[in-house]
Amino acid sequence: MFTAEAPHVYTRAQWNARAPKRPAKVRNRAPDHIIVHHTATANSNDRSLAHAFALSRAIQNIHMRKNHWDDTGQQLTISRGGIVMEGRNRSLRAIRAGDLVVGAQVLHHNQHTIGIENEGTYTSRAVPGSLWRSLTEVCVWLCRVYNLDPASAIVGHRDYNNTSCPGDALYARLPALRRSVADRMESAPSPQPSPSTGDNGDTGDDSWLPLFPSLGNLG
Ligand SMILES: [Zn+2]
Repeated sequence: MFTAEAPHVYTRAQWNARAPKRPAKVRNRAPDHIIVHHTATANSNDRSLAHAFALSRAIQNIHMRKNHWDDTGQQLTISRGGIVMEGRNRSLRAIRAGDLVVGAQVLHHNQHTIGIENEGTYTSRAVPGSLWRSLTEVCVWLCRVYNLDPASAIVGHRDYNNTSCPGDALYARLPALRRSVADRMESAPSPQPSPSTGDNGDTGDDSWLPLFPSLGNLG
């Protein structure tokens, strides 16, 4: 398992997560795609740790209280300040083991994908450099741990569901993200991932819903 250069990921205990309704399901296999989201929240200028932790708590509250999910839907969260945090319970341990925690972040495709929520609304506004650097670092880490080819593995939420997420501005940068991640991985072995398993029959709690329903398809 290649885990060098793993970014610093703040744990759920650090952002003071609530307990999940039940433990997350863990698949003893790697995801085949990394889903890039935006949170469709304000483009805050607060880059502090306190703000990042508050964001994680707010997302968890919405996902559990409004969406009635077991826990935070996404596996990882990145603030506009570039602070990386664990999302759904068991995610960090699963990633380090090469396994997948089944999230609730992309309708019909939670069984084979891992999701990253990026703070902000990127319909037109540019992605901050601090967020971009952390997103790149996280994708390098995930591609190495899971043996994924960034050229095909990194996708936007809209590639799977009828949503504007992750916003036109962030979506337009996905080709650059794939190239940047590939460049950083060039010294590591890069065997191709296995083809899609076609296992997409999940329903119920695994379903994706907008993070902020009042904002329609965003999230
Ligand atoms: Zn999304």
